[in-house]
Amino acid sequence: MIVDRFGRRFRNLRVSLTAACNYACTYCVPDGKRLLPADHELSADELVYAVRLLVDAAGIEKVRITGGEPLLSPKFDALLPAVMQLPLQDVSVTTNGQLILRKLDVILGAGLSRINVSLDTLDAERFRQIARGGDLETVLAGIEALRAAGLAIKINMVPMRTRNADQILPLLDYCLERGFELRFIELMSMGHLRHGNAFGRDFFGMNEILELISTRYAFTRTDAPYDSTAVRFAIPDAGTFGVIANETEPFCSACTRLRLASNGFLYGCLSNAASHDIRPILLEPEHQALARLQSLLVRALADKQDLSFKGEVTVMKFIGG
Ligand code: SAM
Repeated sequence: MIVDRFGRRFRNLRVSLTAACNYACTYCVPDGKRLLPADHELSADELVYAVRLLVDAAGIEKVRITGGEPLLSPKFDALLPAVMQLPLQDVSVTTNGQLILRKLDVILGAGLSRINVSLDTLDAERFRQIARGGDLETVLAGIEALRAAGLAIKINMVPMRTRNADQILPLLDYCLERGFELRFIELMSMGHLRHGNAFGRDFFGMNEILELISTRYAFTRTDAPYDSTAVRFAIPDAGTFGVIANETEPFCSACTRLRLASNGFLYGCLSNAASHDIRPILLEPEHQALARLQSLLVRALADKQDLSFKGEVTVMKFIGG
């Protein structure tokens, strides 16, 4: 097992199926390139082989399938059932929800038990402004279908001061009523947000989120697992919510995440643009592939920043949010 001086190792793998997305969220990309996949994306078979090798070489225990928009990719239909067969503690999917109804058979057929759906507002007009694509009602219908099928659902919201901070309480009510866990993701200074004033203007951090919630609910902070990204809170007799507080309470010192981009590059840290091409390794016989992957993982782990989240020019939809 490869472990660094902070005791960190890779346990969680995020696999970006494709960089293509049917949305162009204002915080993720400048408009215009949403549907473009990355150059030379790995096939479903290559991705599954890569994940299998990483499970062996790094001791990966949990896999999250993400993107871009994973449900947009034809590879999803083969990849999800194949990843579900691997010896993992947990498999989950992060989606914008637009294509859930179309992919319901694949999701249920593979036996997925939990899913994260990104939803930044319950206001249809605001939804179009933020996502620059998609349709709110379709997303909500998809979520209801998953709920009816018994999946555990987390909703991801990125609160932004000028765009959807007033949606924090409506979204929390919506989630509590349905037994979903709402996750507020603090805006990250990624991609185009590294420049200009949008990040500073729209950042709406954990303290402000909690202050707003306290106007309606009493809540207490609860324990979270060692390498959890979220600070979690319980509202007695109502449910739970979490904050992924990259800026306010960075979790870098306990970060166990590794990312595999759709073009076969590994990223050890969100705050570091360094990447490592595993495509040549995938052509090797398995024992050689594993040995080469080990040394590459040592470099990827060394890419992790020490203690604070800094953001990067890399774009979430490319490296897998
Ligand atoms: N298309 C899928 C979705 O929308 O969930 C998966 C990919 S998306 C890049 C994954 C997550 O990254 C989403 O929940 C999105 O809100 C989040 N994200 C993207 N850019 C972000 C940023 N600059 N700050 C915070 N969260 C961001």
